[in-house]
Amino acid sequence: MIKVRNLTKTYVRNKALDNISFTLEEGDILGFLGPNGAGKSTTMNIITGYLSGDEGTVEIDGTDIMEAPEKAKKKIGYLPEQPPLYNDMTVGKYLEFMFRLKKVRLPMKEHIDKICEMVKISDVKGRIIKHLSKGYRQRVGLAQALIGDPPVLILDEPTVGLDPQQIIEIRKLIRELGKEHTIILSSHVLSEVQAVCDKIVIINHGKIAARGLTQEMTRTGGSTNRLDLIIEGRKTAVLSLLKKIDGVTEVTEKGESEKGCYEYTVTSTRDIRRLVFRAVAKTDFNILSMEPVGVSLEDTYLDIISGKTEEESENVGNI
Ligand code: ADP
Ligand code: MG
Repeated sequence: MIKVRNLTKTYVRNKALDNISFTLEEGDILGFLGPNGAGKSTTMNIITGYLSGDEGTVEIDGTDIMEAPEKAKKKIGYLPEQPPLYNDMTVGKYLEFMFRLKKVRLPMKEHIDKICEMVKISDVKGRIIKHLSKGYRQRVGLAQALIGDPPVLILDEPTVGLDPQQIIEIRKLIRELGKEHTIILSSHVLSEVQAVCDKIVIINHGKIAARGLTQEMTRTGGSTNRLDLIIEGRKTAVLSLLKKIDGVTEVTEKGESEKGCYEYTVTSTRDIRRLVFRAVAKTDFNILSMEPVGVSLEDTYLDIISGKTEEESENVGNI
């Protein structure tokens, strides 16, 4: 549905995007995750045809955005970082204005009423936009993006500046829209992307740093393993025992959990659960708890934005 190939963009001396590629199938909700300045808005502006890249191509449902911008743009609803709202218009008049601007060929009143119901702004249609709360204004921005029934929605940080209740409501709305649309949503907040999206692309300094299915990226495991243990027995002896196990790279002791029992976190290059069990069973110490922790997506994201991981190690998957 959306094919982005080798996008590169330089602003004067600043390389904002460096060889960005990803593909979305129909119905995907992609979280475009990265810290401020990573290049999210630049990418979205290029995908939606509001900015041209220096190199690379964007195809929306088979139509190249640079070769046939009118046709491609009809398939996209865009909610930019700063929604293009006319503050002195009423919500209703503004949506009619956008309807005409987009040259939509649908029955106007019916179409606008349907959208207002969907994003729950029917009750404020007669209100002047500048008098609305930020949450409502964001909904009006979404309504504007939905005019013309585009199959693709591009939403740039749709929950920035909203209060927690409004954030919950907008997320719910986006998930609902995801049933009928292909969506790219940008955010600098990992939990947001995890809550709403089924695929994630992490971008940093204009490059893709990681990508995958949310479920897989979130799941425990990967190349590094972590075990949380509670072992009954002398601390120094247990520590040296754990450190000797093949594959263990780090052992930290986290304190006494009950009398004579200590908690440990063991990092290893592979699954060492069986080795730990056998090693401890040979002594008179006892394992009271063993829990694989794995590496969380949060750790991965923090490593990326702190510069520990620069670029994705290999170009995997189809996203
Ligand atoms: P994000 O949306 O992830 O915060 P942006 O795409 O807005 O990132 O910005 C990416 C980089 O490009 C940043 O370093 C930013 O300062 C720079 N940039 C963005 N817009 C412009 C512009 N119009 N002129 C010059 N530099 C820009
Ligand atoms: Mg941005």
